[in-house]
Amino acid sequence: MKNDILTLAIQKSGRLSEGSVSLLKKCGISIQNGRSHLKARANGFPLELIFLRDDDIPQYVEDGVAAAGILGLNEVMEKKRNVSIVKKLGFSRCRLSVAVPKDVDYTGSEFLSNKRIATSYPEILKSYLEDRGLNAEIHPISGSVEVTPGLGLADAIFEIVSSGGTLLSNGLKEVETVLKSEAVLIARPELPEETGKLLEQLLFRIEAVQRAANNKYILLNAPSEKLDDIVSLIPGIKSPTIMPLAEKGWYSLHSVISEQDFWEVIDNLRESGAEGILVVPIEKMVG
Ligand code: ATP
Ligand code: MG
Repeated sequence: MKNDILTLAIQKSGRLSEGSVSLLKKCGISIQNGRSHLKARANGFPLELIFLRDDDIPQYVEDGVAAAGILGLNEVMEKKRNVSIVKKLGFSRCRLSVAVPKDVDYTGSEFLSNKRIATSYPEILKSYLEDRGLNAEIHPISGSVEVTPGLGLADAIFEIVSSGGTLLSNGLKEVETVLKSEAVLIARPELPEETGKLLEQLLFRIEAVQRAANNKYILLNAPSEKLDDIVSLIPGIKSPTIMPLAEKGWYSLHSVISEQDFWEVIDNLRESGAEGILVVPIEKMVG
């Protein structure tokens, strides 16, 4: 592992690749020679990308071939390698669930006792069953797990679900959600100092991008007698900017509000007499 450059493993092609490349782009990092090669130097950061199957990323990071990687939390938990989860990234969200044929009268996880369960996540399933003191036959399968009950090969499955469409079309219903997953940034637990600093810098950029995505810039007009009430509703990062309008007795207020309580704040602002409310996206939010 070179020290003056951060080696980051990302999925070569699949459900994580677009989100990974797009996140890097928002961090000002672009890829020079595309994804057709195994490796690529990035522009805008001392970064080298390695393109791999997501299954291989935990091992490459544990072995130090890459200092860090981006992949689904589900795959990190399944592979049980010695890697640290540095940051949740908020894309490629899905869940790992137990599903059974839709006409089964499922009353609880005891149903799984002594049943055959097909899965491509045998390790996570094993822990789940052990935690509940259940004994079942785990059938590890690498793909098309959803068809196994219909073929008479399994009584239940344990698989990735996102919309539930695949389950439905195979006559299955989701009965237990075991793990909620999303893309995560992982890293080797012990990194050389230089590499650790580069990882911190990358993390700083990722956090600025995430904060921006979670916040909106708001501009509004308020009459002077309502100013105090309205200011208390939009405290902003430090406090809102207040500027007088050309019309006497009116002010323009600028602030930042979080996406989470967006509608509640907007409703309260309107009730308090705010007018001409404009809400605009923020590209980066630093510190
Ligand atoms: P690879 O060839 O790299 O091994 P793969 O076939 O194992 O790819 P993908 O189907 O591309 O994997 O899924 C990669 C990851 O994306 C999954 O491990 C999971 O974290 C997430 N994921 C899977 N299915 C979905 C989905 N339907 N919606 C959102 N995220 C998903
Ligand atoms: Mg894979």
